Amino acid sequence: MDNSNVPAGSQGSQPQFPNRGDASPNGGQPQKSSSINGCVLAALIGGGVVMFLVVALILLALLLPAVGMARARARQVQCADHQRQLFTAWSRANSRDPSHPVRGSQWNVRLGPYMEGSTKVFHCPDDVQRTQATSYGLNARAWRFSAPDTNRIVLLDYKDVEIQVVGQTLAQLSSSWPMQQAPRHFLKENVAFYDGHITPYECDKIDPRFCDYYVRYWRPARDSNIPLTGCVNSGEPPSSFPKSSP
Ligand SMILES: [Zn+2]
Repeated sequence: MDNSNVPAGSQGSQPQFPNRGDASPNGGQPQKSSSINGCVLAALIGGGVVMFLVVALILLALLLPAVGMARARARQVQCADHQRQLFTAWSRANSRDPSHPVRGSQWNVRLGPYMEGSTKVFHCPDDVQRTQATSYGLNARAWRFSAPDTNRIVLLDYKDVEIQVVGQTLAQLSSSWPMQQAPRHFLKENVAFYDGHITPYECDKIDPRFCDYYVRYWRPARDSNIPLTGCVNSGEPPSSFPKSSP
């Protein structure tokens, strides 16, 4: 047999295959290492994401109460602003028509024209039920206030539109005050005084069933002859004194 046409060097030699470890599609051991590295990297990234989410949730849990507190504080300020506007309107209306002072259960209707069509101010932003035409109660005797009454209560956060205090008995107030008081702001209620300042008060600190609070905050100087029958000294509530609800 003539092998003269067979290329030199190819005679009797084995076919040349590439090194399986260098060029096989799956790459052998180096490819496996790369996959492991990819898994580790993915795990690290995944762990980082989880850690980020955990930290974010913790921060959120820490921040939410602070945000809620800030919003509640803003509502308290807004409520005070509403009371300030209502007090201003009440004062203007009484100055404009002294012979017909704003009083009674329809006082909010009388102040309507002074609100330029806005009814928003009649409601406390923390009064979510809004069962009444207004979230604020007007001291039924506020229309009797005069110069000596600067630190007496005109209106406040309350569940009824009118607050009957002067001339009442302890029994009457014990059935109304604990039920109608409305400490909507951090267990306090905003109170508008006759000199125009607004201050949050704990209900117990202005409770008219106490003789001294009745005289100090509720009864006009001109009505000094009208007692609250059966009032008690502050700090000494009798056993029949209903406990104020928050
Ligand atoms: Zn309020």
